[in-house]
Amino acid sequence: MTCISGPRTHTARTAKTCHWCGEQIEQGQLFVQWTDGKFWVIKVHPECHDAWQKLPPDEQHEVYQGEFSRGCKCEHGLCKCSRQQQTDTDNTTKGGA
Ligand SMILES: [Zn+2]
Ligand SMILES: [Zn+2]
Repeated sequence: MTCISGPRTHTARTAKTCHWCGEQIEQGQLFVQWTDGKFWVIKVHPECHDAWQKLPPDEQHEVYQGEFSRGCKCEHGLCKCSRQQQTDTDNTTKGGA
């Protein structure tokens, strides 16, 4: 038996800071909250929670606030996902002969 309470989705009554991306969780938005079994209460955006679950178990315990980009595992401020989307719209594909 453990005392770890599983992740639960709540509606934010007040603005909070997401532990994953360091961005604000606005009042009225959904967020996911859980404890790590010790004393930390962790609050993140739902999409950041999804990204967290994709980390290897060892790394899930070593997430610093604001370390990652919102909704993905890219380093904060260096999200390659959004960069890829930007290059998609910049369509300069050459027709090979
Ligand atoms: Zn977040
Ligand atoms: Zn990314």
